[in-house]
Order: sequence, then C-alpha cells, then structure tokens
Amino acid sequence: MFENLSRRLQQTLDGLRGRGRIGEADLKKVMREIRMSLLEADVNFEVAKAFTKRVQEKALGQKVYESLTPAEQIYTIVYDELKELLGSEPKQPELKHEGNVWFLVGLQGTGKTTAAGKLARLYKSKGRRPLLVAADTQRPAARDQLRILAEQVGVPVLEVQNGEKPAETARRLREHLAKDYRDLVIVDTAGRLQIDEALMDELAQLKDELEPTETLLVVDAMMGQEALGVSRTFDERIGVSGLILTKLDGDARGGAALSARYVTGKPIYFGGTSEKLDGLEPFYPDRLAQRILGMGDIQTLMERAQAAELEEPDKAPHEFDLNDLLAQMKQIQKMGSMTELIKMIPGLSRALPQNFQLDPKATKHLEAIIQSMTPAERRNPRILNASRRRRIARGSGTSVQEINRLIKTFEETKGMMKTLAKSPRKRRGFFGRR
Ligand code: GDP
Ligand code: MG
Repeated sequence: MFENLSRRLQQTLDGLRGRGRIGEADLKKVMREIRMSLLEADVNFEVAKAFTKRVQEKALGQKVYESLTPAEQIYTIVYDELKELLGSEPKQPELKHEGNVWFLVGLQGTGKTTAAGKLARLYKSKGRRPLLVAADTQRPAARDQLRILAEQVGVPVLEVQNGEKPAETARRLREHLAKDYRDLVIVDTAGRLQIDEALMDELAQLKDELEPTETLLVVDAMMGQEALGVSRTFDERIGVSGLILTKLDGDARGGAALSARYVTGKPIYFGGTSEKLDGLEPFYPDRLAQRILGMGDIQTLMERAQAAELEEPDKAPHEFDLNDLLAQMKQIQKMGSMTELIKMIPGLSRALPQNFQLDPKATKHLEAIIQSMTPAERRNPRILNASRRRRIARGSGTSVQEINRLIKTFEETKGMMKTLAKSPRKRRGFFGRR
C-alpha cells in the first residue's frame, strides 16, 4: 500500500533538488503534481484539494531558513502536512483503571472479529484482563470464530444468545464481571455487507445498554472511497470515538486510509497489518508520513527489534533513560506549588539540575522531543548528530537549542541518579524515611 503514491511524491520532490529558488509558477506546478498523485492514490477529492492548498500557503508564507534548500523546505512542509492529515500525534483509546468497554462496529468483512482478538492479545500482554463478548448473532460461524481466537489468546468469551435482548446481554455481562474480574471488555458485533437500518437500530440499542467507553469503527483500507461514506453513516447513527484501519498490508492504493481521519474527524488508533493475531499496531502518523516520503519506517523497525530483545530471558539492567527523565519531571510538575518547598530540602534541591524547568509548557516540549526520538536515542541521546537534532526539532516543533538543553539536563540527572544509587540515602528514600 502507498507504493505508487510514495514513488510519485518522491519523484516530484526530487525534481526540485538542487534548485536555488522556486518561483510561484514552479510551486503551482509542483502542487498540481502533488494533487494528481493524491487523486491517483484514491485520496478523497476534498482532502487532496485542501492538502495542496495548505502546502502552497505554507510554502509561500514561510520565512526562508538558511540551513535548508528550497526543495528541503517544501519536503518538510509536505511531511508536516501529511502527518497532520493522518492525525499529527498518535492517539490511544481511553483506558481507565477498570470499567473499560470497547464496542467494535463496522461492515461485514472489515476485520472486526479479528481486531477483537488482536486487541485482547495486545492488552493482555500489557497486563490487562480482557473479556471478549461475541455479540454477532447474524452469522452462525461468527461466535465460533471469536471463541477460537479467544482460546488462542487465553481470554474468556461471553456469548450473546440468539434473539437475546440487549438489556439481557448487559445484565449477563454484569453478572459475569461480578464473578470474574475483568478490566477491559471488548465487544464484537455483527456487520452487514451494506448499511442497513435494522442493523443500525440493533447496534444503537446494544450500545445504549452496554454504555461503552470507546466505540471503535473498523475500516477496511482495501475498500477505497466507499469506506468513507459508510464511516460517516456509522458515526451519525451510532457515534464513533475512534478508528481501526485494517488490511494496511494489502495492495490497495491507500487513499481511503489517508482520507479516513480527515473525512470522519476521528483519530486512527490502530492499523491492522496481517491476518495473524499479532498484526495490530498503534497508528503513528509521523511514521506513515515518513514511509510515504521515503525516510524509511525506522522507528517501527527499531521497536520491533526492541520487542525481540525484550523476549530474551537475560536482559541487561535498566539504565536511566530519557523516558525516566520525562516521568520524573511529570511527577514533580504534579506537585506544582510544592516547588518552593522542594528547593528548601537540601538533598533534593541539589539533586535538581540547574536549569530544571517546572512549567507545563516546558514539559510538553520535552515530551514532544522525546517522542520524536528512536528508542536507542532515548537510551543514549549522545548518539544524536547535528542533522538528527535538526530533524527532531522540526518534528517536535521545538528548536535545536531546546534539544541540546534537554540532553544536558539528562546527563546531569543521570549523573545524579548514579550518585544517589551509591549513597545510603537511597535506601532510606528521598525524604530520609520510608
Ligand atoms: P468481520 O466480518 O468484520 O468480523 O471480519 P473478520 O474479522 O472476520 O475478517 C475478515 C477477513 O479479513 C478475514 O479473512 C481476516 O483474516 C481478514 N483480515 C482482518 N484484518 C486483517 C488485516 O489487518 N490484514 C489482512 N491481510 N487481513 C485481515
Ligand atoms: Mg465478525
């Protein structure tokens, strides 16, 4: 998926390379080419139009950075806009301590049952206790299909009986949960080949009774434009809180996937990448944008490598890294008015790095910077060279100076952690007692 679009966009942008100046006429021509590439990839017409308009406006309005060639600047704008189109920041469904009910809806064959099994597997691996609910009573084999997946994952299933009223299903669910503690209920529902009034009513009633915390619309990326109208109808009739895009591993042109967030206004939470139970990944707008523009899906690869590493029995002791720094800062920031108090505690005020910032904006920037880094970089930010720092600054909407400052703070804190680890104070806790 996305191969053709990727090739066309890269050709267009490569054509600008080595140009000292890009005039308005040239820019218009480039925008036309980009719009054509998007339309050929089956991107929604409105989306393609709005996209190129924004790129053009940004390119014309942008101040000229001396460190970038005009071609690089347009490249960056296209990247930023593509990321924005896909949702900008990765989003996850809401997950409370308990009482989570995720209601999966979508047309028949989009991948609901498969996604239900995949979600159960994913969240079980994160330490959750999922329960699957087989509410598809339309097709006789649907409940069997979910039961088999549940067995593979090792989670229980509650099966809705033929002709059972939604209120009765809700009652049986409560009864089940009272006996068997579960913190995440994933409901697989029936789909039809097309939007169908009776089905919509049924789903709406069941939703009313089950009061889900998330209603996830499963969208088949192979379906093309048609998927988008369907999605809007589901949202109008049932209310949708987020999307799961399935079959991203297929050979469709990708336009529907690219338009889904814009057209529905809902975040894409996950992408399905195979028929297998492990084929579900959180959806990262930046990574897909990078993949389309040919920067390689580096982060995903790194994460896979890291996951493989984690499965090895003998893993190295955990070294203080940037994720830990961020967690610490958030923790301290929560204390808010306690900042002054902290400064009065001798050990702790010495422990805080000199330029330690507690204002929430600084923490937000920090988070954006850290999120733009690869896992390896988070462990050891010293490996960041100048061009990576520039790219991360651009990716996170910050500056190279901020990144440099963060790395300095990190080094200081890490040093401090090492000292603390050696001192007896650690055993007594920060405040001298347990
Ligand atoms: P439902 O009718 O919405 O419940 O759809 P199913 O979960 O039964 O899936 C329909 C078909 O799509 C099955 O053959 C699945 O194996 C397949 N499928 C689901 N998700 C994916 C995916 O992400 N990638 C691929 N390649 N196939 C998928
Ligand atoms: Mg199904």
